[in-house]
Amino acid sequence: MTISEIKAQHPDWRILVYSYNWLEEINCASCGKLMPYYDTYTSREQTTDNGYFGLPVCCRCYGHETQHLMTSWKGKKNG
Ligand SMILES: [Zn+2]
Repeated sequence: MTISEIKAQHPDWRILVYSYNWLEEINCASCGKLMPYYDTYTSREQTTDNGYFGLPVCCRCYGHETQHLMTSWKGKKNG
């Protein structure tokens, strides 16, 4: 999803592309978990509207994304 789609669905979430204040509390762009910016990972699935940059997500969501990616790579190799 893009940042505009996420903000439309969750107007109460604080979603940033980047923060210069790494202690700033933001929401995971995927599940909405509140956490400090320094504790985030750059998403592969939740992006800016142009798709160029990943949004900050929590460790758990990043792990899920990596699983999706690994599954799709395996699918391509076998196909
Ligand atoms: Zn999350």
